[in-house]
Amino acid sequence: KEFGIDKALEELGLNQDINNGTSTGEDFFSSGEVIESYSPVDGALIGKVRATTKEDYDKVIAAATAGFKEWRTMPAPQRGEIVRQFNDELRRLKEPLGKLVSYEMGKSYQEGLGEVQEMIDICDFAVGLSRQLHGLTMHSERPGHRMYEQYHPLGVVGIISAFNFPVAVWSWNTALAWVCGDACIWKGSEKTPLTSVACQNIAARVFASNNVPAGISCLITGDYKVGEFMTKDERIPLISATGSTRMGKIVAKEVAGRLGKTLLELGGNNAIIVTPDANIKNTVIGAVFGAVGTCGQRCTSTRRLIVHEEVYDKVKNAIVDAYKQIKIGNPLDENNHVGPLIDKDAVKNYQNALDKVVEEGGNILVEGGVLEGEGYESGCYVKPAIAEAENHFEIVQHETFAPVLYLMKYKGDVANALELQNGVRQGLSSAIMTNNLREAERFLSVEGSDCGIANVNIGTSGAEIGGAFGGEKETGGGRESGSDAWKIYMRRQTNTINYTTELPLAQGIKFDL
Ligand code: NAD
Repeated sequence: KEFGIDKALEELGLNQDINNGTSTGEDFFSSGEVIESYSPVDGALIGKVRATTKEDYDKVIAAATAGFKEWRTMPAPQRGEIVRQFNDELRRLKEPLGKLVSYEMGKSYQEGLGEVQEMIDICDFAVGLSRQLHGLTMHSERPGHRMYEQYHPLGVVGIISAFNFPVAVWSWNTALAWVCGDACIWKGSEKTPLTSVACQNIAARVFASNNVPAGISCLITGDYKVGEFMTKDERIPLISATGSTRMGKIVAKEVAGRLGKTLLELGGNNAIIVTPDANIKNTVIGAVFGAVGTCGQRCTSTRRLIVHEEVYDKVKNAIVDAYKQIKIGNPLDENNHVGPLIDKDAVKNYQNALDKVVEEGGNILVEGGVLEGEGYESGCYVKPAIAEAENHFEIVQHETFAPVLYLMKYKGDVANALELQNGVRQGLSSAIMTNNLREAERFLSVEGSDCGIANVNIGTSGAEIGGAFGGEKETGGGRESGSDAWKIYMRRQTNTINYTTELPLAQGIKFDL
């Protein structure tokens, strides 16, 4: 109440009672179990959402399949105009939506607003894109022939998203998929069901006011079993799934089994390399924000700091000092840097990681621990911790979704640091802090970082929507958001047109009858 949550819920059209978590855009309905959403901020019940059953899902996929047939015939710039209107609504509702994201997920209010800003930015991008779904033209080898390629809408896109970016990831997919002419069915995280309903309320209103058929923006709610309705469904040509590598491996197998396409955005294990002539002040800011921001629950959070021995002690002391200044508490209070973890399971994982790193021979530099007492009643607030560790430790190889930073040393050439940085199974984000041009270019070269994101003199955390976002290896290989990531939401067709009276064959083949 103190932070205006009730008002935010009202502005977003959420009931205090039970909200329906199934929607075709035209209707909201649901006959599954009730999911209660508790805030990690104060442990209070925020609201309830009724989950989707198979029967509910069947209605949704029928609406999406039928809706797609009309939507695909609308000129792309007109689809873009609807995305523009959706964006106007996001701008209008930025504060309540940002607040709900913060309260339901636990990230700071600034980051909640930032997440909605990402939605706004991707919609702007999508509106422009709606006039630029370009294909190439090629010169045919045959006389009197014209050859080109075009992109057509793909169909119904299934979007499965994680709790930590409960609204932005949906929009990265959906804003592009909509202008590409696809219908979307979204299953948000069962840990953040109210933000999903809030977003669907906005989209449904905008689509209805444009007399667009039902089914272009659909919502389903529930855990992995509800996600499986989509992954097993041959009517869905593309599943875009964001979440853990564990989930991605299951989804990839399921969808590949029916030769569907996947766009996978999975776990990271991101490192910053700190070379001898790095700017230490910026290194500390980048590393601390990367490690403790969103309480270490970003796929791009900094997990490992690989520091040259010459500056190791200096960096270590500066970071340890910086951690002393971190304020942990209610993320809606802008004086705090770090909010809670999402739930008590996440707290357990965090504690396990700290136990494990000690068992494997690590040295704790900044003690962790679960906070208790006033303001910490939800039991989800933990202290960001730092441990000196070796890259090969099993726990270091693993993504712990919490504020645990591993510090390690490298000697000699930057190639040694690169070996450590690339020596994990994940390949999402990476960074080097250096003023040495040779080292920076080496890091970006073919022998450098093997990640989808490689930054120089900024941290690993966060990204702008203009670039393609995603990573290699166990991160899943998918790319979404900017650049040409839109192509996955369309099917490519190569067209050759013969405008002569002859029928010459390619490769000079003769076939006389
Ligand atoms: P999670 O894997 O537990 O769940 C993610 C989503 O997948 C949820 O909606 C869940 O219901 C669904 N799901 C799980 N198993 C499924 C199955 N078998 N079939 C269909 N759906 C299934 O992940 P989480 O705890 O919500 O999120 C944290 C993870 O997400 C971290 O590993 C983080 O790195 C990753 N993440 C990656 C990116 C990225 O862009 N690479 C972005 C955000 C989060």
